[in-house]
Amino acid sequence: MPDALDTAGILAATHAIRPRLSALVGPAHAAQLDTQLADALTHPDPTQAAAELDRLLRNRPQTRAFLRRVLADAPHYRPPTLDQETQRAADSSRGVALAGDSGVVDADRFICPDPDCDYAWHRPSVGDTVRHCPDHAVALIPG
Ligand SMILES: [Zn+2]
Repeated sequence: MPDALDTAGILAATHAIRPRLSALVGPAHAAQLDTQLADALTHPDPTQAAAELDRLLRNRPQTRAFLRRVLADAPHYRPPTLDQETQRAADSSRGVALAGDSGVVDADRFICPDPDCDYAWHRPSVGDTVRHCPDHAVALIPG
């Protein structure tokens, strides 16, 4: 099984996920996990580093889903939220930005981490609890 590790993908996912840890797992867990990821990255053997990063990222459903999304995008290994940022840029260039009247809150888009699932949900406001995919019963991730 260790032979099957996608070292390049895991390293790409790690670099992509670190700035997003607070959003994914909450600030309380993010600091500790970031330290563990940073430690693993210093391992001189990339295969060993990837094995440790893989283990750390698979510990939590949010980071596991993120890792799966990045690995599924081989060989580009784009992080899930890149799509969201691209979409946002496309939206604003088309002039459909929602920022207008006061009191309007941008809805955040969340998707099922399963690459084969196209379930998407818009969070009405930042304070609302993120839902689970009705088909897969996993927490939705930003996308
Ligand atoms: Zn799903």
